[in-house]
Amino acid sequence: MRYPWTQAPWTQLQVRRQQQRLPHALLLTGPKGLGKTGFARDLAQSLLCEQPSSEGLACQQCRACARFAAATHPDFLVVEPEEAGKAIKVDQIRDLIAQFTLATHQGGYRVAIVQPAEQMNLAAANSLLKTLEEPPADSLLVLVSANPSLLPATILSRCQRLDFSPPSHAEALAWLSQEQQIPVDEAEALLSLACDAPLSALALREESVLAQRQALFQSFTAIARGQSALANLDPWLKLALPTPIHWLSSWINDLIRVKSGVPAGLRNRDLREGLQNIAQRVDLQGLFDFLDELHNILRMQRSPLNAQMLMEGVLLRWQSLSTAKADDK
Ligand SMILES: [Zn+2]
Repeated sequence: MRYPWTQAPWTQLQVRRQQQRLPHALLLTGPKGLGKTGFARDLAQSLLCEQPSSEGLACQQCRACARFAAATHPDFLVVEPEEAGKAIKVDQIRDLIAQFTLATHQGGYRVAIVQPAEQMNLAAANSLLKTLEEPPADSLLVLVSANPSLLPATILSRCQRLDFSPPSHAEALAWLSQEQQIPVDEAEALLSLACDAPLSALALREESVLAQRQALFQSFTAIARGQSALANLDPWLKLALPTPIHWLSSWINDLIRVKSGVPAGLRNRDLREGLQNIAQRVDLQGLFDFLDELHNILRMQRSPLNAQMLMEGVLLRWQSLSTAKADDK
């Protein structure tokens, strides 16, 4: 299996396969960033492969595997929204059912993945339900969903559910640093942003989020050292709200920890030194007040906000908070 944290569900399914007790419908659930969709694809390929290994892994060499890799296998279907974030429509499900009920091309399994399954609209879900009630032989339907509570109960009750849990923080860290060769400090920082979901952490890295965060932290530090907030506004406007406010509140949170003498639980361990320097300049009560204000902003994020005005206000507030002590002297 491609990830250590998906080994257990993989083995579980392969045992059932050997006992010829695979269900007709599976629901893969769990937080984003754990590789559920990749797992579903591996499972599909494994079922279509002409000579899978004893662990159930596809051989990558047979005709079926070649077709699978070229995305031309006639017995494998993926249904997803035509545009990211949009609904899966009833026509897409009808097409799926039409193909699913034909005899298979290879005389073996027929597999379809529907993801994210909760994005089926009501008509699509109802249409799929009919197939779930009378599944064709040798077929497997794999629904993938990070939000299964949004699926109709009638669908849920007809799927065998397989829950994916995030690995422990230590396992995730080991995987990123050893398997992916990411420096430990950076891996820690990525995991703290990704709620310990290893693949989300990798994706964040690819998006060079850390570099942006570093730029913001530099500007955050520069303001505390007396530079003008307004002259430091630009990097903050490059990121969509509420991300900069999230980061800012996470730094303020850590500053409170440092000032309270409990630096062990820092969320931004890679910024520890910088945070310790800033902590000497700010007043603890002021930090608590500022954190409250940031939380209020995050709570109101659904209403349209003028990003520039908002960031100006927030940074000016940080400027007055972090330079107040210097002014006193
Ligand atoms: Zn194969």
